[in-house]
Amino acid sequence: MFQALTQRRYLLPFKASRLPQQFTEVLVIGGGVAGLRSAIAAAEAGAEVLLLTKDTVAESNTWYAQGGIAAVLQPLDSVESHVKDTLDCGVGLCDESTVRTVISEGPQRVLELLQWNMRFDKKAGNPYDLAFGLEGGHSFARILHSFGDATGKELAQTLINTVRSRESIRISEKTFVIDLITDEGQCVGAIALIGEQVTIIWARRTILASGGAGQLYRESTNPRIATADGHAMAYRAGARVKDMEMVQFHPTTLYVAGSTRALVTEAVRGEGAHLVDHNGYRFMKDYNPMGELAPRDIVSRAIVEQIRKTNFTHVYLDVRHLPKQKFRDRFPQLALLCDQFEIDIAKDLIPIHPSAHYMIGGVDVDDRGQTSLTGLYAVGEASCSGLHGANRLASNSLLEGLTFGTRAGTDAANFARENKIRFPQELEHKIDRSAKTELDITDVKSSLRSVMWRNVGIERTGDRLAETRKIIAFWSRYVMDKTFHITIGRDSAVAGWELQNMLTACFLVTSAAYTRTESRGAHYRLDHPTRDDEHWRSHLTWQRPQEAPIVEPL
Ligand SMILES: Cc1cc2nc3c(=O)[nH]c(=O)nc-3n(C[C@H](O)[C@H](O)[C@H](O)COP(=O)(O)OP(=O)(O)OC[C@H]3O[C@@H](n4cnc5c(N)ncnc54)[C@H](O)[C@@H]3O)c2cc1C
Repeated sequence: MFQALTQRRYLLPFKASRLPQQFTEVLVIGGGVAGLRSAIAAAEAGAEVLLLTKDTVAESNTWYAQGGIAAVLQPLDSVESHVKDTLDCGVGLCDESTVRTVISEGPQRVLELLQWNMRFDKKAGNPYDLAFGLEGGHSFARILHSFGDATGKELAQTLINTVRSRESIRISEKTFVIDLITDEGQCVGAIALIGEQVTIIWARRTILASGGAGQLYRESTNPRIATADGHAMAYRAGARVKDMEMVQFHPTTLYVAGSTRALVTEAVRGEGAHLVDHNGYRFMKDYNPMGELAPRDIVSRAIVEQIRKTNFTHVYLDVRHLPKQKFRDRFPQLALLCDQFEIDIAKDLIPIHPSAHYMIGGVDVDDRGQTSLTGLYAVGEASCSGLHGANRLASNSLLEGLTFGTRAGTDAANFARENKIRFPQELEHKIDRSAKTELDITDVKSSLRSVMWRNVGIERTGDRLAETRKIIAFWSRYVMDKTFHITIGRDSAVAGWELQNMLTACFLVTSAAYTRTESRGAHYRLDHPTRDDEHWRSHLTWQRPQEAPIVEPL
């Protein structure tokens, strides 16, 4: 049924010897927190690094992160407590050793950021005079933030400045990586569109830090770049992917018709905001004793249910009881956004709705970020390290990017400095010309995102998932047999490759969601509403050309 997806190795035919070629010791694909931190670590370990980003280096999920970075930096907090919160949120699917590693190394990674002049918000009274916020699922106020709700921007800028100060790191922006290149079972670099030129980049070690997949859904907090390119290219290259059914939906994104779904950070609820329905009723305690501070999946589902009960399109955040100036100082970006839509936070309710937010599943990695494909590492949102299990605890992903970026960058550099590998410069890949009709790329992309939102979103059922699989299989037959060349224009070629990647990732997400006949963490099946530890305390893993995931009990 999915041969068009499972048989496809490269998106483009090529003959390496006819294309321009570049060489590097460590190739980093992605310039968010995970890629930037990997590049710094690799450079510090003595390697030459090339870092690629598909848009400008500032355009990443990282840049838009608001709430902050979770870290144990206060005497009354403890690693044990943060570990417990993370494991509780992950509902039985976390890898405890990964959780301990990330949380134990977190403080060191944050202190490094202070040395690199990251401006965290300050408050006197603790060893580093840092201000800490509280977010859903955390039992201690341990979230560091910058400029209120602009943590991602400050973090990205700090890391970009640090990267730019290292002579051994080159950055190539507006460079679209099309595929990972493999030879004799190992990754040896990537094929990318640099400007208007398809180029081969040979690398001794490659780190995939290509971020998330929010654009698979019509409603998403993620920027346009988040089209799951890395997930799809790693799958095509033969790396194992895992837990793809686990997509986290953020409960509170601004719901104003026609505007983008700007995220309203969890920290707003941490500061005391209430969730109320269209009738002004504060409903969260009806669903969970933690109320507004329950984990994200519970809050998202409660909102969907309350919307259904009240027969309305959205619910509201009520911040009217919070001191207005204090709110503006703590959440300047949100306050500005509300101003732009003439929402007076002292008098008006803020309309919100859930949206797709974070890809928990990804390329399966070990404790150094190594994938099942020799030569390839994966870090950050593109990876599945076992930190998040079936659900991600708020503010743990920037932390994961920092810790795994450091680990993978160091490991990759240590190998690359000491070992040469053979680059198969004679490599050639042919693809038969398609005999099938063309489909409109923009149309399929937007229909795909709508169908994913309706059928593979916050609430799922076997029937709808089965129907979606058929729809994806149909589109794939027409889209996956095409080759998009630069001759049709850069933007059109990139849009075509992105759609091919999105179809691949949608196939993995939908099929895994169809297979897991229980509800756990971010994955909720209306037809199987309870958690089933007897059968499903398992990961679902894939490796091309499998059509169905393998169930791997823990
Ligand atoms: C609105 C919002 C708020 C958030 N708030 C928080 C928060 O407060 N705390 C927290 O911990 N997490 C938060 N998150 C999640 C967190 O920001 C992300 O999970 C994290 O930043 C991912 O980092 P990354 O480096 O893996 O990927 P990204 O930051 O998304 O970077 C991906 C990079 O890969 C590049 N790339 C992708 N595809 C290709 C390609 N084909 N070719 C070349 N380059 C490519 C992109 O250009 C980009 O540079 C938030 C996310 C969003 C969207």
